[in-house]
Amino acid sequence: MDATLTRVRDDVFRRNPGETEFHQAVVEVFETLEPVLRKHPEFGEAAILQRICEPERQIIFRVPWVDDAGQVRINRGFRVEFNSALGPYKGGLRFHPSVYLGIVKFLGFEQIFKNALTGMPIGGGKGGSDFDPRGKSDAEVMRFCQSFMTELYRHIGEYTDVPAGDIGVGGREIGYLFGQYKRITNRYESGVLTGKGVSWGGSLVRPEATGYGAVMFVEEMLKTKGMSLDGQRVIVSGSGNVAINAIAKAQYLGGKVIACSDSSGYVVDEAGIDVALLRQIKEGERGRISDYAARRGNGSSFVAGGSIWDAGATVALPCATQNELGESDAVSLLKSGVVAVAEGANMPCTPKAIEIFQEAGVLFGPGKAANAGGVATSALEMQQNASRDAWTFEHTERRLSEIMVNIHDRCAETAEEYGAPGNYVVGANIGGFVKVADAMLALGVI
Ligand code: NDP
Repeated sequence: MDATLTRVRDDVFRRNPGETEFHQAVVEVFETLEPVLRKHPEFGEAAILQRICEPERQIIFRVPWVDDAGQVRINRGFRVEFNSALGPYKGGLRFHPSVYLGIVKFLGFEQIFKNALTGMPIGGGKGGSDFDPRGKSDAEVMRFCQSFMTELYRHIGEYTDVPAGDIGVGGREIGYLFGQYKRITNRYESGVLTGKGVSWGGSLVRPEATGYGAVMFVEEMLKTKGMSLDGQRVIVSGSGNVAINAIAKAQYLGGKVIACSDSSGYVVDEAGIDVALLRQIKEGERGRISDYAARRGNGSSFVAGGSIWDAGATVALPCATQNELGESDAVSLLKSGVVAVAEGANMPCTPKAIEIFQEAGVLFGPGKAANAGGVATSALEMQQNASRDAWTFEHTERRLSEIMVNIHDRCAETAEEYGAPGNYVVGANIGGFVKVADAMLALGVI
């Protein structure tokens, strides 16, 4: 990192104390920007670098709600509207007890560049709460969502800020949030949230999009080496929205997914994960991954705790959460002959793990590129809402596929142009950054 980047990085650390995930996300981008600053001195210090690290607006609010026992509960809500140079702020809401400002800012920062890479007119933002939907009744989740939206509604809108789901926020939560928005505003503004149900303004393929897109990205990376997913031994961590759909797509393309997980541990199923059973347990019953091994009845096993990456794979798709794949996991995967890794989750691989993969010549797809299919399909949902139209599954999936191929190619070409052929981290960071920086310069000092 050159002197300018180091100075701005130190300034970010000083101005945002204790926000370690945000620091990590900034450093990951800055480490690839030196050649950009040489080519574009106009992006220097205050002009772009400092400005792009400072959110345009950060909203923090109290979320009071009443649980089933009649007790008042208090959570904290966040919305960080990070950058709107390319379009309205766009990014999901995360409900998880670990959520605090540093996590929301890391996710919002990543989202700026990811959204730019999709080629769609959307800016970057992110939000959420330290509310934990696990173990709550539907009625409690509804009351929480209604209270959350009672503050959030004044900050969002089709042309302002368009939230969606993320960890802990799926179709049920988006439904309650949209219902409360509609009730408060007395307007059926479909374009204010994405991830809606298909019968009330949602898009086909949106639930599948992030997982499908990540697998499409892997297939494109493998193609560059004359390989494909067919016959690969695959591990997918997590068992939520992204993981389940990544498993489904990877199996469809001939890969054998032998393990998946949740925060309690992982299952190994050498016959290949039964997606229908997994969906039934995790989405239908909101159950635990240990139930899968118990009910599969083919000798598949549940390992409490431990590292899923020790199960050995040639293709690894971390689809659970940040920093879930570290140095020892990367070494373990190398031993099992891993050829490709793609981040379905946001920042799941630690910097050291990424370094190990890249030094070993493993194809590595960073989240900004590999999991961009979700937000891209959210933008397709916005298009359908704006034109009061509803596309078929086939048409929408074809659009998603074209977008993922484009993102892959743009990353590959940008990496080549900046002297790092095959380095998708460089390609994704620079490709996204240059597009946003150009727009920021054009719009003046705002
Ligand atoms: P979900 O809430 O649907 O699923 C999250 C899954 O990850 C759950 O199975 C959860 O298990 C598991 N998990 C959480 N923490 C851990 C952990 N420490 N170890 C193992 N498993 C864990 O969320 P999503 O699938 O939507 O999101 C997953 C990731 O993908 C996140 O990083 C998110 O930011 C990213 N992403 C999501 C997009 C989307 O469209 N949904 C778009 C782009 C990125 P448990 O049930 O035990 O908590």
